[in-house]
Amino acid sequence: MGYNFDADVIVVGAGPAGARTAALLSERGHSVIVLEEHQEVGFPVHCSGFITPRTLDIAQIESSIVMNSVKGALVYSNNKAKPLILGGDIERAVVVDRELFDKSIASSSGDSGASFKMNNKVVSVQRKDSFVEVLAIHDKKPIKYLARCVVGADGVRSIVAKDLGRDSGEMIWCIGAEARLEGHPMDMVRIYASQDLAPGWFGWSIPTGTNRVRIGIGAAMHSTSLKPRKLLNDLLNEFPEHFKGIEIISFGGGFIPLYSASSTYDDRALLVGDAALQVKPTSGGGIYTSLKAASYAAQAINENLDEDSLDNESLSVYQKNWTEDFGQEMQRGLDIRQVYLGLGDDKLNRLMDIFRLPLFRSKINNYGDIDYPSKMFGILVGLAPILKGLLGLPDLLPVSWKNVVDSRQWDVIHKDLLN
Ligand SMILES: Cc1cc2nc3c(=O)[nH]c(=O)nc-3n(C[C@H](O)[C@H](O)[C@H](O)COP(=O)(O)OP(=O)(O)OC[C@H]3O[C@@H](n4cnc5c(N)ncnc54)[C@H](O)[C@@H]3O)c2cc1C
Repeated sequence: MGYNFDADVIVVGAGPAGARTAALLSERGHSVIVLEEHQEVGFPVHCSGFITPRTLDIAQIESSIVMNSVKGALVYSNNKAKPLILGGDIERAVVVDRELFDKSIASSSGDSGASFKMNNKVVSVQRKDSFVEVLAIHDKKPIKYLARCVVGADGVRSIVAKDLGRDSGEMIWCIGAEARLEGHPMDMVRIYASQDLAPGWFGWSIPTGTNRVRIGIGAAMHSTSLKPRKLLNDLLNEFPEHFKGIEIISFGGGFIPLYSASSTYDDRALLVGDAALQVKPTSGGGIYTSLKAASYAAQAINENLDEDSLDNESLSVYQKNWTEDFGQEMQRGLDIRQVYLGLGDDKLNRLMDIFRLPLFRSKINNYGDIDYPSKMFGILVGLAPILKGLLGLPDLLPVSWKNVVDSRQWDVIHKDLLN
């Protein structure tokens, strides 16, 4: 039976994951419709826009959207006087205008032929043997779209993920604000890593330009019943010397779905980005991983669309490819998070004292990479016996990490530490 398809692929959500997947599919000549519930791509913003330069490269975006360049971090625990200084030497991250970032990816996707339909809120997805039917609401009226397959890039509350029965991971809620503030270092972010202030997560301030910052704080949803505004106020009050004279311009916020191993494909459907829980458990960053996943999603569909071979088995290549690429890094991120949660403020202070020693600082700086934090924490594995003795810590990281850091890297780390 011939179907009257509206497109080969329906992508739900016009964030980085959806727009990039759509671009890579339409570049190959496939017809793609992107359904987005909002009127405008990239708005409202729920993000700090803190990414590595390599993320800009993958997104193929001009650096004109970069607002500031960052060389490192000042990490504060409840010991306010003594930050741990990480990096500070070379550019390690950039701060982007997140709205323009999303618009820029969508624009190149549109140039490749993808059709963006705004103000289309998807409310149901029905997957049949030979097609997918997506129901959206536009101007209060239902519209049905028929396609060969669907990509769920619809973020933290993904309706497509619900259809696939995906488990939900651990959720962090965050409140953020754009603000005017004098005296913040221009090339360093500040991280507030006290479990009292931010239960299960951390607070931050990121310089976006002269006398401008993005501040925020998050908490693990199961760890506190306190309201986000209260936590933000407490942060501002706890560090008056950092936030003196701050003028909040606007508030934002949202939920971060931390990585959890789960299936991201099924018959005629893939999940990408936040919808697939492809979010770093250490920092909550999800832009880099969602763009990487987008390329594997597009590849899996591009390879199978002409044959209409879009069943569960054919699309499993997507899960295989992205897992091989960054699944292990995500898993290690979960281990790091468990260590962080297990430390508590006192042991964190003692650990930070050790990391302040020049030897440790230089090693941490050599291996620090916000997209691949396990490189740096791999050093911890090597040092686990020493740290355990010094701090009376429990096992810092699972023994399995020894197999994770590949043996060559392992030797380099050890040699490096002994120098
Ligand atoms: C406060 C905060 C700060 C953050 N800071 C950073 C950071 O500094 N760096 C970083 O890398 N990551 C950060 N993140 C995470 C990052 O924002 C996400 O990981 C990233 O946006 C994921 O992209 P995505 O395309 O998967 O989802 P999204 O960007 O959320 O896009 C999903 C899109 O789908 C649309 N949509 C949802 N449901 C439907 C529906 N039913 N029908 C139609 N459309 C729908 C939404 O409107 C949206 O446009 C932060 C998150 C939060 C909450």
